[in-house]
Amino acid sequence: MVCYAVAFFREEMIKGGAKVQLYADSLASLLIVCALVYLMVNLEVLILRQAARRADEARAMAERMNKAQNRFFSSMSHDLRAPVNEILNLNEMILREEISPEVEEDSYDIRSSGKLLLNVINDVLDISRIEAGTLEIVPAEYNVGDMFSDLVGIFWTQARDKGLEFRINIDPEMPACLYGDETRIRQCLVNVMSNAVKYTTEGSVTLSVQPRCNGKELTVVYTVTDTGIGIRKENIPYIFDAYRREDEEMSRSITGTGLGLGIVKRLVDLMGGTISVNSVYRKGSNFVLAIPQKRIGEERIVTREIGQRPTASRNYIPTFTAPEASMLVVDDNRTNLMIVQKMLKKTGVQIDTAQSGTEALQKTLEKAYDLILLEHMMTEMNGFKCLRMIRKQSSGLCNKAKIVAVTANSDNATIAFYASSGFDGYLIKPFDSRTLEQECARLLPRDLVTLTGTADGEEDADSVRVRAYSAKERVRITTDSTSDLPRELLERFHIGIIPYRVSTPRGIFRDGIEIGQESLLAYLDKEGSSAESLPPEKDAYEAFFADALHQADNVIHLSTSGGVTLNGVKEAGEAAEAFENVSVVDSQAVSCGLGLLTLEAADMAGQGGTPEQIVRRLEALRRRIHCGFIVDNLHSLSQSGQISPLLHRLLDTLMMHPVLQMRGGKIHVRAVLFGTRHMVWHRYIRMQLRAWRRIDHRRLLVSYTGLSVEDLEFIRGELDKYFPFEEVIFHKVSPSVTVTCGKNAFGMSFLGKDPKSERTESAY
Ligand code: ADP
Repeated sequence: MVCYAVAFFREEMIKGGAKVQLYADSLASLLIVCALVYLMVNLEVLILRQAARRADEARAMAERMNKAQNRFFSSMSHDLRAPVNEILNLNEMILREEISPEVEEDSYDIRSSGKLLLNVINDVLDISRIEAGTLEIVPAEYNVGDMFSDLVGIFWTQARDKGLEFRINIDPEMPACLYGDETRIRQCLVNVMSNAVKYTTEGSVTLSVQPRCNGKELTVVYTVTDTGIGIRKENIPYIFDAYRREDEEMSRSITGTGLGLGIVKRLVDLMGGTISVNSVYRKGSNFVLAIPQKRIGEERIVTREIGQRPTASRNYIPTFTAPEASMLVVDDNRTNLMIVQKMLKKTGVQIDTAQSGTEALQKTLEKAYDLILLEHMMTEMNGFKCLRMIRKQSSGLCNKAKIVAVTANSDNATIAFYASSGFDGYLIKPFDSRTLEQECARLLPRDLVTLTGTADGEEDADSVRVRAYSAKERVRITTDSTSDLPRELLERFHIGIIPYRVSTPRGIFRDGIEIGQESLLAYLDKEGSSAESLPPEKDAYEAFFADALHQADNVIHLSTSGGVTLNGVKEAGEAAEAFENVSVVDSQAVSCGLGLLTLEAADMAGQGGTPEQIVRRLEALRRRIHCGFIVDNLHSLSQSGQISPLLHRLLDTLMMHPVLQMRGGKIHVRAVLFGTRHMVWHRYIRMQLRAWRRIDHRRLLVSYTGLSVEDLEFIRGELDKYFPFEEVIFHKVSPSVTVTCGKNAFGMSFLGKDPKSERTESAY
């Protein structure tokens, strides 16, 4: 820039250079620029390299930390669990001896406290691992029946001790073998089921299992239902938070850390599943876990084989005997050696023990063992090193023997390591006699093992059996009793009904249960009688929904129009808030209109529509519902405040028959007809069905109050003559609707055709 400035302002200073000079100058500038660029690029590279090195160092540090954390959790897991296991196992041995009742009682106490302690340790370790991000999900093939047998084994006794009924309800379509992380699934179920038993003092605990296929995907839905103390609505959002226990006042006397559901939620998330809860305070809870897994093979589960497995007792019978077989147990802890010896005592297997890897190597030189149990964590020589030495021991007699790793460390990396490093199996402490026996029976030479067949045959009269399976519906449709649907339709479509109530000065009566139409009409005929219909209260809706959720995963409730007086939309809506899987749809209709919409919803549910699809469709469909009725007089409507007393008196004096019509969820007087009853009915029917071509002819619902057989025959005759619907359903109006429409009323409800296209009819 200086040169340019000089050249511009002091032109006389510039001498015309030789050509050589010009080239030399530009070459020099080029070189200078190149050198500068080179330096800059190098500097940049240097800076980047340093940054990369720092990042590498940080990553290596994080990995080291991670490994250290893993090591810490492994050793904590080992150091904390090992002594508790020892206590528990020794205690089991005591229980197998001839002991006095007092000792037996103490022993049972040790067992339950020990198990509690073990659970707390496991929970604390798990939550730390999850929070450190070191817990992984390791899926593998597993036998579904075995898992359920174990769960039954644990919970049947627990439930019985508390005087509860324990039920297990497994879909026969459930595959026998699945691919998933069995340990974690089992852990989740154990947690939720122990809570169910813990928080229930009377009634039952039920585990239902259902596979859900969606193309190639399989999701197993586990539902745990109890009739216990339930959870307050305001606490439900927090129960999956770790370290938090709800309702301290109520659960103070109940042991727990508040970690259980926090762990379950995180594990289910890691497995790509979902967990939801429905609970009614003081009535019971319902936990639904949906976990995606893969199906292995086509075989289905044999539910008959799932039964309670007996725990240790004096009359313990082992699952196999093998007096000819020989086994070496290697562990540097003498107590553990003794426990394994005692656990296998009744199998008759000849057992030698070694207290170190070196001692084990000596013994394998002297004797050919069929099976070796090798503790992994030994001070002098660890299990893996010992395994390698046994395998390549020259003149060793056990180079090909089956070797099982024994460990208290259940983390996935260790398990994967055992699978890939030449062990024939692994046992995770604490293991019970059955697990140990199973592993031994699997690996000992077949010809030396005699199975006793007790595992299946031991079920005593007390043992729980898998209930005759009753499949849970995916969606259950429920409605108010004011939908006026006949019983046989309710049963055919599995529709649940909650009764409205009729209030009279003599008391409050439940619709169709404590009061019928005839008795109500007879009562209303009397001079000075009065009645009013009342919707169910919020508590009644809550209990009703909780009940419906026992039979289905989701509930859709169609309520009487929110636009008429005395409807239960608000109560139902508030009650539904306590549940994740209950939706309330305001039908904007009453009586047969509500009934018709309910039948449509039940049709959709029967065809496999999802709750969202059904609700969306109902919202569209309710605009096409035509619902009207013709009444003898407006006495009841005026009494219930739905029309003005002035209009009532006027129409009554003139002996007119008003035609009422639902529009926008409200009742309007559409027309007033004069004449004898049959004449006005004839005109009413023609008027309602005039747009015959725009009506969906599949179904017509007719509901009535106090009509005689002749009246009904007349109505049917009129319909058959002019308007042949495929299905016409007659039904008496429920008492609470009768209160409103009075005697000799009848109404009709049908659907208008879809204005868009027929195709959208089956769009769900
Ligand atoms: P805790 O160790 O306290 O049982 P959880 O995390 O397992 O911890 O449960 C959290 C809280 O959720 C419990 O303190 C209890 O208030 C509530 N809870 C869980 N399951 C149930 C159930 N089946 N019935 C009633 N309350 C339950």
